[in-house]
Amino acid sequence: MIPIKFEYYKVDTLEEAFQAFNELNSQGKNPMYYSGGTEIITMARANNINMGAVIDIKGITECCTMEMRDNKLNIGSAVTLSQISESKIFPLLGQTAARIADHTVQCKLTIGGNLCGTIIYKETSLPLILCDSSAVIFGKNGRREVQLNQIFDKKLNLLPGEILVGLKIDERYFSLPYVHVKKTKSDKIAYPLLTVAALKKDDKIRIAFSGLHPYPFRNKEVENLINYESMSHKNKTSQIIEVLSSSILNDTEGSSEYRKFVLKNTLENTFKMLNEV
Ligand SMILES: Cc1cc2nc3c(=O)[nH]c(=O)nc-3n(C[C@H](O)[C@H](O)[C@H](O)COP(=O)(O)OP(=O)(O)OC[C@H]3O[C@@H](n4cnc5c(N)ncnc54)[C@H](O)[C@@H]3O)c2cc1C
Repeated sequence: MIPIKFEYYKVDTLEEAFQAFNELNSQGKNPMYYSGGTEIITMARANNINMGAVIDIKGITECCTMEMRDNKLNIGSAVTLSQISESKIFPLLGQTAARIADHTVQCKLTIGGNLCGTIIYKETSLPLILCDSSAVIFGKNGRREVQLNQIFDKKLNLLPGEILVGLKIDERYFSLPYVHVKKTKSDKIAYPLLTVAALKKDDKIRIAFSGLHPYPFRNKEVENLINYESMSHKNKTSQIIEVLSSSILNDTEGSSEYRKFVLKNTLENTFKMLNEV
């Protein structure tokens, strides 16, 4: 049961959604956009949020479609993780989505909710930040398109009331060699102890992490070390661990020492896999 009273609005357009948000906000109703609703409902049940209204964006066609246009995959923010993995269009993103929660839950969880929510892992951001993807956002001045890397820094930095409409990814990335590894504490379906997504473009490896720090990230220094030719894998691995060690999580999923151990093995396997292609 949800122990708070809140109003529910369903809108058909981005304009209606943004207008509803501003009106409800000015009435002090602390509105929230509602996509799959899983995080909102879970947090409301636990008394961790107190919204006075939700605005359901699943009636907005653009948020719910996934299609190829001008050599780019357009994914609406309300597209579910199961739709993404089952489409098999972008293997790295599909594999990432398929390892978040179980299949039943994936049919509800949306990519927008994964990127905009408060759960720290945001694993779908990893392929997106590796692939120079862009985000379409709707706000005060209408629609804008920005490079995800410009607005995703630990989290998606939207302005108040802005809606993530969708993501665009160039199809050239779909056929690149990639690695996706998700390590969990015990069960296959769990929050990540460490998730690594990596791909090789123009002979250079790009790599992004979730579960290691309290936010997902890509790190230039780490990528420079990885791509430094005259250094052994062993040496690279120990230097990367040194670079990343100060913020490594130490929580119920695993101690920071255990995470370092998992990171070491995962990095060595990732180098092997990507250097062999
Ligand atoms: C059982 C379970 C296991 C999970 N395991 C993992 C995991 O292993 N790894 C991982 O990364 N995540 C995990 N998650 C987190 C999950 O991926 C996100 O919570 C989820 O995707 C939320 O999607 P939703 O559509 O239900 O979001 P909602 O509950 O609808 O929204 C979540 C938040 O995002 C905001 N929001 C949603 N869409 C938009 C939009 N288009 N524009 C602006 N704001 C928006 C909402 O206002 C709200 O604040 C798990 C969640 C559950 C329930």
